[in-house]
Formats: sequence, C-alpha cells, structure tokens
Amino acid sequence: MTPKKKKFLIQALADLYPDPHSELDFTNEYQLLIAVMLSAQCTDKKVNQVTPELFKAYPTFKALSQAKLADIERIIRPINYYKTKSKHLIATGKEAVARFDSEVPDTHKELTSLPGVGNKTANVILSEKGVVPAFPVDTHIFRLAHRLGLSQGKTPDAVEKDLRKAFPSSEWRNLHHRIIFHGRRVCSARAPQCGECSLRAICPSAQ
Ligand code: SF4
Repeated sequence: MTPKKKKFLIQALADLYPDPHSELDFTNEYQLLIAVMLSAQCTDKKVNQVTPELFKAYPTFKALSQAKLADIERIIRPINYYKTKSKHLIATGKEAVARFDSEVPDTHKELTSLPGVGNKTANVILSEKGVVPAFPVDTHIFRLAHRLGLSQGKTPDAVEKDLRKAFPSSEWRNLHHRIIFHGRRVCSARAPQCGECSLRAICPSAQ
C-alpha cells in the first residue's frame, strides 16, 4: 500500500471510530489480563458475560491463586477451552503472587512466562498498559490486513511484522482497535459490506 493510501486508511478509520478501545470489560490491570486470557479463541461478548461473576468471586491474583478448579470451571464454562483456561488462570494467579508481587508484569518476556499467556495476549496487555507499543494480530486484523493488501503473511506473527513496518508505532494501538471494530462491523469474514465501506477507494479486495 502506498504512503498516500496508508494516510487515507488511518484518517478514514479515525473518522469512523473516534474512540478506539478494547471491547472487553475491565477496570484494572488484573482484570485486563484475565479477560484477555479468556478471549483467546472466544468472542469478547462471551468473555464479558462471565467476568462479572469471576471478578466478584476472585478480585485479586491472590484470591484467584487460592480458587478451586471446579469453581472456576463452573463460572467460565461458556468460554471455549474453559477447562484448560481454568487451570491457566489459577496457575497464573499463583505465579503473579510468587514472582510479581501480585502485579501484572511489564515486559513481554515476563508476561509470556505466565501459564496460558502467549505472544498475542502479551502484546495486547503491553499495548493497553501503554508500556510498549504493540500491534497484536487477532482474526479480524489478520483478515483485513490481507484484504487491504497490507500483508501476505501466513501467520499472525508474520502479519504483525508487516503491520509494524507499515505504520509508525504511535499509530499501532489505535489502528489495532479500529481495524478490529471495522472487521466486526463492516468487513466481516463471510459477508464484507464493500458497498458501504469507507475504505473501498483504497481496498484491492473491494467488490
Ligand atoms: S472494501 Fe470490502 S474487503 Fe475492503 S475493507 Fe471494505 S468491506 Fe473489507
């Protein structure tokens, strides 16, 4: 994509989505980490349905570290891979208490050392905390990056690399949220609404 088209893309998305933010519900960093861990392979909507009860019962890493597996499984049962995620939540609670003074760590290396926290989850946390610019690639960003001709990468990591190269780091967080918004509202996987899309003029996949 040419620099002129990239500029158009940034502005068009900013006009469409002036308030870029995560659609997960959270009020502190502990809740952010847990919600993002639950959101892997699962919709934000489903995560937001279970987290109120989860955060009420387990408001801190310490409380989570002492939880019974069956109780967590019951609460997060609607979430994909709830059994594995329940184990990871308790193990992450224990690690956070033991190694990070019950705080969410600030580095990619420390974050990915927590059970169930992979590259994408770590990047989302770092981006939201504003510690390190990051451009996490989820299913929507992966799809739109290809449709918009921003990447031909075959893996999320390859696409992330291309996006980091394509845009200045100051744009990464906002673009991350705005592209997800656009993927959910206009450029869906099965039925992209190209006729109503503000990016149509610069999109090589426009129909
Ligand atoms: S023009 Fe179509 S394919 Fe391109 S971003 Fe818009 S909805 Fe998606």
